Amino acid sequence: MSNSEVRVRFAPSPTGALHIGGAHTALFNWLWARHTGGKFILRIEDTDLVRSTKEYEQTIMDGMTWFGLDWDEGPDKGGDFGPYRQSERLDIYRKYAEKLLDEGKAYKDGEAIIFKVEPGLDISFDDMVYGRINVMSDGLKEQNSDKLKDIVIIKSDGMPTYNYAVVIDDALMHMTHVIRGEDHISNTPKQILIYRALGFAEPQFAHLPMILGKDKKKLSKRHGATSVYEYRDMGYMPDSVFNFLALLGWSAEDHEIFTRPEAAELFELKRVTRKPAVFDPDKLNYINQEHLKRLEPMTRLNMIKPFWEAMGLPVKEHDDKWLADALTLMAGRGQTAKEMAEFADYFVSFEPVKARWDGKDISDERRGSLKEFFNAVLAVPEWTHESLEACARTWVEEHGVKMKDYAMPLRFALTGMKVSPGIFEVAVHLGRDEVRKRLEFYNLI
Ligand code: GLU
Repeated sequence: MSNSEVRVRFAPSPTGALHIGGAHTALFNWLWARHTGGKFILRIEDTDLVRSTKEYEQTIMDGMTWFGLDWDEGPDKGGDFGPYRQSERLDIYRKYAEKLLDEGKAYKDGEAIIFKVEPGLDISFDDMVYGRINVMSDGLKEQNSDKLKDIVIIKSDGMPTYNYAVVIDDALMHMTHVIRGEDHISNTPKQILIYRALGFAEPQFAHLPMILGKDKKKLSKRHGATSVYEYRDMGYMPDSVFNFLALLGWSAEDHEIFTRPEAAELFELKRVTRKPAVFDPDKLNYINQEHLKRLEPMTRLNMIKPFWEAMGLPVKEHDDKWLADALTLMAGRGQTAKEMAEFADYFVSFEPVKARWDGKDISDERRGSLKEFFNAVLAVPEWTHESLEACARTWVEEHGVKMKDYAMPLRFALTGMKVSPGIFEVAVHLGRDEVRKRLEFYNLI
């Protein structure tokens, strides 16, 4: 470890899934580590033995892995400053608590160990995001009282408290920066007291803005999905969730759509704003759509396939390249993989088309002229977009009718939808036989 190397950590308590707030904190730490060429450490804060589970620990790691946050040291990876689970560090917390007791900086109250808060200490700090935060130890009072509130460091059950364990760990794991949610600003002065009492070097603190829903209230379940996996299961791409979360409280100058390496290069802790960030699902949709558009066709197909399969469509009956090209034809339609799968279902099977449109709204009179048109179109010598289009144009001109009155029923017969990519392109991709089959079904040829 070189002296200048940045070391940051994400320190979740495994008492629930990886929610948006946690993912956001993890992401900013990761960005700072990767931007500076430093280390990103995962530490599990599992001192709440009742609520912490190994399953939650695993889902948090899975969530981080899903959207591309890799860590350099952690409970599964090891590292020079482990163990990386607080429950495995109890003897370390005990040792430093004894030291504080010996030095008269802490006292016992039954089994508990309490850190003594001395009056008159300046525990102000410079937050990299919020600026100077002025606090005197005299401000740390008991509720509704003038008495200074000492800090419990070891509870009577032998477990360390958060404010104590976090300092021991951040110091012994050589954290250079502590980047976490702004809800921890009020904990920081207490932690600073403990750093000083133990003679540890203080890291730099950077608190991240709060995340609000569109109604400007603190983000909660009411605002929709709050865990990372819900977004995964809805068909959002990890790159988009990453991109979206990175823009909560930070902007990359004029870049709005970026990859992970691009974000890591552009990221600057000093550009993080303290203004609460608004979680706007429409923005996530837009970002996801942009990432879907930029995907390699085969990668895109692999994203869409599971959704088609879940819809019961016969994906295996088709050639992968052909399916991938169909999705390229979609040209960015659909904001999520699920939506794109739904919008493009007619390529995979005729069944959903039939389910959407029964063709009964076509009058007999109209059917006669549609049949003439479709027969002409089906007979083009070359089954290409250009010849289909040219044939259709000539036909409508000769008959003095409007293209849209003929293109629309064709769109319904092939897709069962009001909107689709250019219908002649769809027809070319489906192939002459399939188009004939669909038109026949509707008695349109
Ligand atoms: N376990 C704490 C939390 O999840 C960590 C806070 C910190 O980063 O210091 O809120």
